[in-house]
Amino acid sequence: MDYIQDRKAFGKPIGSFQNSRFVMAALRTRLDAAQTLVDHCVLNHLDGVLSAELAAEVKLLTSELEGEVADQCVQLHGGNGYMQDYEICRLYADARISRIYAGTSEIMKEIIGRGLGLDDRNHRS
Ligand SMILES: Cc1cc2nc3c(=O)[nH]c(=O)nc-3n(C[C@H](O)[C@H](O)[C@H](O)COP(=O)(O)OP(=O)(O)OC[C@H]3O[C@@H](n4cnc5c(N)ncnc54)[C@H](O)[C@@H]3O)c2cc1C
Repeated sequence: MDYIQDRKAFGKPIGSFQNSRFVMAALRTRLDAAQTLVDHCVLNHLDGVLSAELAAEVKLLTSELEGEVADQCVQLHGGNGYMQDYEICRLYADARISRIYAGTSEIMKEIIGRGLGLDDRNHRS
């Protein structure tokens, strides 16, 4: 937000371009939706009823979203987003591990899929 309000292109802050507004609006919407699910999972966890499947869903959703948010924000930074002088560069690099550690996205999908009854272990002879 700070960067797109400060940085000017063609005499205007880049945050004033419709594309920038749309990107930020779409990210804001998805972050708010994700936060709602996180809050729901925290309440479930405190009540001792959080299922492995729902925990896997929220880990999958938020870690994938983190990567997409970082990627879109690098894009809004233009070439500066690639430079280590800018915090977004580090945030982009750091976001990549979230889809790997504490269980990869593929393993989260396995847990969710098995919860749906789609377990290939049931079909082995
Ligand atoms: C910075 C960092 C911190 C970490 N901290 C911890 C920690 O505190 N505690 C801890 O226990 N571990 C920790 N880890 C380990 C981390 O949890 C593992 O790296 C992660 O679970 C992936 O396992 P792996 O690296 O062995 O990858 P692999 O299991 O070799 O997976 C490689 C690829 O194969 C895919 N894959 C594997 N199995 C399947 C399957 N059945 N179906 C489909 N695709 C599959 C994976 O999704 C991945 O894309 C950490 C790792 C890092 C990098």
